[in-house]
Amino acid sequence: MEGEGTPPAESLRDEHEQLADLVRKYRYAYYQEDSPTVSDAEFDELYRRLEELEALHPELVTNDSPTQEVGGEVSSAFAAVEHLQRMYSLDDVFSLEELEAWVRKAEASVAKLGDRVPPIAWLTELKIDGLAVNLLYRDGKLVRAATRGDGTTGEDITHNVLTIKEIPRELSGSGYPSEVEIRGEVFIPSKAFAEFNETLVAAGKAPLANPRNAAAGSLRQKDPAETAKRPLSMYVHGIGAREGLEAKSQSGTYELLEQWGLPVSPYLKVLGSFEEVLEFIAHYGTHRHDLQHEIDGIVVKIDDFATQRALGYTSRVPRWAAAYKYPPEEVHTKLLDIAVNVGRTGRVTPFGLMEPVKVAGSTVGMATLHNQDVVKAKGVMIGDIVILRKAGDVIPEIVGPVLALRDKQDPPVREFVMPTECPSCGTPLAPAKESDVDIRCPNAKSCPSQLRERVFHLAGRGAFDIEALGWEAAIALTQPAEPEIPPLTSEAGLFSLTREALADVKIRREKRSKGVGTGEYELVPYFFTKGTAKSPSKPTATTEKLFVELEKAKKQPLWRVLVALSIRHVGPTASRALATAFGSMDAIRSATEEQIAHVDGVGPTIAAALKEWFAVDWHNDIVDSWAAAGVRMEDERDTSMPRTLEGLTVVVTGTLPNFSRDEAKEAIIIRGGKASGSVSKNTSYLVAGESAGTKLDKAEQLGVPVLDEDGFRELLANGPATTDADPEATEAAPEAAAAEAETE
Ligand code: NAD
Repeated sequence: MEGEGTPPAESLRDEHEQLADLVRKYRYAYYQEDSPTVSDAEFDELYRRLEELEALHPELVTNDSPTQEVGGEVSSAFAAVEHLQRMYSLDDVFSLEELEAWVRKAEASVAKLGDRVPPIAWLTELKIDGLAVNLLYRDGKLVRAATRGDGTTGEDITHNVLTIKEIPRELSGSGYPSEVEIRGEVFIPSKAFAEFNETLVAAGKAPLANPRNAAAGSLRQKDPAETAKRPLSMYVHGIGAREGLEAKSQSGTYELLEQWGLPVSPYLKVLGSFEEVLEFIAHYGTHRHDLQHEIDGIVVKIDDFATQRALGYTSRVPRWAAAYKYPPEEVHTKLLDIAVNVGRTGRVTPFGLMEPVKVAGSTVGMATLHNQDVVKAKGVMIGDIVILRKAGDVIPEIVGPVLALRDKQDPPVREFVMPTECPSCGTPLAPAKESDVDIRCPNAKSCPSQLRERVFHLAGRGAFDIEALGWEAAIALTQPAEPEIPPLTSEAGLFSLTREALADVKIRREKRSKGVGTGEYELVPYFFTKGTAKSPSKPTATTEKLFVELEKAKKQPLWRVLVALSIRHVGPTASRALATAFGSMDAIRSATEEQIAHVDGVGPTIAAALKEWFAVDWHNDIVDSWAAAGVRMEDERDTSMPRTLEGLTVVVTGTLPNFSRDEAKEAIIIRGGKASGSVSKNTSYLVAGESAGTKLDKAEQLGVPVLDEDGFRELLANGPATTDADPEATEAAPEAAAAEAETE
């Protein structure tokens, strides 16, 4: 009755018809064109709705309903061939509860068979995300290979299958039936897929969207030479017609297939209980990306052939097997806009803003697009429906557009144009070097975006570790909003922040109600202060925490301070190596490029980046301001090397027989001394080798002790002899070292 939850028969029929048409249309795009227009997750949901509708109203089920058919069709591009025995699909379940229900039902059916069959053993296999192929061997020779098609009739793809090296043209060993159909999955291994895509991108072509569709497309090429170029592989997972084969179970058959040279998956297991099946599912849920190939689930089969025969098939699936599907990792969503972000080193990175969707367990609305070449290679346009992929914990990735839907988008799609000026500070953008793909904002010092990223970075766990200074706080501290000049215009001021400076800070927040990417903002008070009319601007607990953490940060070891400086290429590993080798910021600042490059774990790129960084005045201001505010710029002594030269300044000149100039300098630094390039009255020693020139003259003039190599070795080993160094010069050395370092 209308209005009481029972729709009129006509409208039900209409709904069924519409759903069935959609499923047919999507199947056609998937199986015939190898180019799906909706994600598998969307397709599965639609298909489920159709199944549910038919379960509630069995009168709607017709012979040509998609639920009664295996799915594929036969394209006219290939000759149609009849399978000797039907090929089926699999019953899908989408949750562990559904799987348990399926298992219990199967157990009940098997119980009814009594002693005719053995207790259930579950053959548990990976559900390879590829396409099904049927191989026909006669007298051990591969005579035909076909796609699944509609289950009865497939497409003859023999020539293409012959290009797959894993598939034997002739069976080895003996005892194979005179006629046997072997079923399996053709796929592209994940590593080969990634490499193949790299070659496509390098050749300026669009990469293939996913291994499953790539495998299907590759196998259904008209020209086998084209198929041969694709890295296809195969695992077998079933057997069809089998004239005179003696085998009791499917796993037993796999052993025979292996003996005949057919590729059997190394991952399958025969398990005794449902609990073990659950463990198998959980294990591959976490390890699904450590495998040779992509999987979309786990197939659970009753191993025994007699039981399989007794349970039989529906028109579409066996009753003795089911496929548990993992949550989808690939979905479709709309790419609303492509915006750009200016990073810590000025690199301008485009990223996609999408209609938020759930994928692999989390909701995703943004994904990086790396650079303009990547946007081009992926071929995405603003407004496209895109394939979004998130594999486990991996960062979400926009795979590419669904081209078939491009023309249908309203408003029409448009191309992304990389801005020519920095969206944050207006400075013209340019690549650092002509050959660079990345473009950068050169305004490193005052570009608010770069500063924000650097401030966020310096507070990170691997740097100063200031928890209260998260992403939003970094924005509030650096972005002009209200007051117009933000509390920080350089990270130099970080340790001189005051509570007053944080009072009444507001941030600009995009008005999401107006739609993503409209660029409309509102000013929102930031949580640094909470005020009332009577007592405005009281710092919040988080602000207090910030000041406590800033104090703690001042005592962090030197390597963390180095990481916090955002010097290109200088991450935690290089920073640790530098801190161990030099011990203090001043020693690093005054070291030569060669000395730095010689440090174990550093090298010329980092050395050049460091020297370049320290050559900039405002960078030195950061170090000096932090030092003045009490940030520790020296590590505790390294006790592994005697600090024999502590407080001494040593100059090396001329050629020493057994030390290169760099080795000599390094030997001085790691013993706590300062290796300087010029002689002054504060020089403690001059080490003079052959052909020493003006420095020797100057040292003699100033009365600086001069050592040869033997004397230098003695100095390194035992420090100054009590009588030979001028005590005043020695005492003055630390200041001198600092002064020299500052003028370098
Ligand atoms: P299915 O993929 O769910 O399961 C059946 C197939 O699994 C078998 O034919 C076999 O080829 C394969 N398989 C892989 N490993 C196996 C193993 N170890 N043992 C046995 N079989 C194994 O069913 P289907 O009918 O082939 O296709 C449905 C799938 O295709 C669904 O995932 C669906 O989302 C997708 N699909 C998507 C679209 C779309 O538009 N996105 C359209 C149609 C179908």
